[in-house]
Amino acid sequence: MRNLPNPLQSLQSGHWFKLICGASYQHLPAVRNLALAYSLAGADCIDVAADAAVVAEARAGVQAAIQIAAEKGSALARPWLMVSLNDGEDPHFRKAVFDPARCPADCARPCEAICPAGAIVFNPKSGFANGGVTAERCYGCGRCLPVCPIGQIETRSQTVPLATLAPTLLPQVDAVEIHTQVGRVVEFTQLWNQLRPWVRQLQLVSVSCPDGAGVTDYLRQLYAQIQPRPAILIWQADGRPMSGDIGKGTTHAAIRLGQKLLTAGLPGYVQLAGGTNRHTVEKLQDLGLLGPAQTTPDRPPHIAGIAYGSFARSLLMPHLETFTTLETMPDLLWPTVRLARSLVQPLKLVARPAAQVGR
Ligand code: SF4
Ligand code: SF4
Repeated sequence: MRNLPNPLQSLQSGHWFKLICGASYQHLPAVRNLALAYSLAGADCIDVAADAAVVAEARAGVQAAIQIAAEKGSALARPWLMVSLNDGEDPHFRKAVFDPARCPADCARPCEAICPAGAIVFNPKSGFANGGVTAERCYGCGRCLPVCPIGQIETRSQTVPLATLAPTLLPQVDAVEIHTQVGRVVEFTQLWNQLRPWVRQLQLVSVSCPDGAGVTDYLRQLYAQIQPRPAILIWQADGRPMSGDIGKGTTHAAIRLGQKLLTAGLPGYVQLAGGTNRHTVEKLQDLGLLGPAQTTPDRPPHIAGIAYGSFARSLLMPHLETFTTLETMPDLLWPTVRLARSLVQPLKLVARPAAQVGR
């Protein structure tokens, strides 16, 4: 039986792969199958919405992957489950809304065409009636907003009620991510104080922040508030949020921010997100930024891993739409896993070949 690297080893060696299902993505069959496919492909962490039903589906997907791997003679290292929290308004924690009754009859429905999640649907028979945003599929990317000719699409922000959810939710997961933005020390500290009793039970805490003036000073201020220290701390460089499926160039913002955080020397691991896609590994390799995360005097620090959201989901989305339980359909399961593996393996293979599970 082969033993694959566990998540901590992946972080230490610079091979950490995180799948982002989406902080507000609640489409349960897709979450389950994303967790299953990317677990079999070698993901180290599955990041999902802080919602009991979503966490349960992700766990079920991971468990199914472990069982399938065992049947094939491999000991799959269980990916860690992470839930995302926010300390204020944040695009990751919002849903698009509009009133389909207000849509002009001759509108070409650009909103429907541009939505990467298939969240906007209209019934062909009844026109605009009964159409609109399917809330559980919307992950807040905002692409539908500017294309509406009458400007009627809005977003509704959400804040995860940690104090209410923590006792039942946090024992079900391994890790928590806090989404913050420059200038929110007070709000971050309030959220951290709610999380504090649970920190010792978690494997990992991640702090996700987009770029902004004074971002490294801001993160240093947060580090001072992070007590007790989590076992593992990740700084997630959220370059261009929820954009990895748009085009090749979206990865640059995350790399620039990652370099900034590495230069700042913040204690903990630096991991990229926000705009990451199939080109990210290659760009990081060109810049010499991938490798073991430890710093030595003669070697600069490295990026410990990459989180993939929009791109990872869009890669599998056509497969995820056609069924509900992937493992019951082997003819669909393995092509889907191969697709997932095509994203995971380049990162895993940077320094050494990784064993694979399945066929
Ligand atoms: S385009 Fe983005 S924000 Fe609009 S409905 Fe789709 S997922 Fe939600
Ligand atoms: S683009 Fe605006 S008006 Fe047109 S179908 Fe979508 S929500 Fe309605």
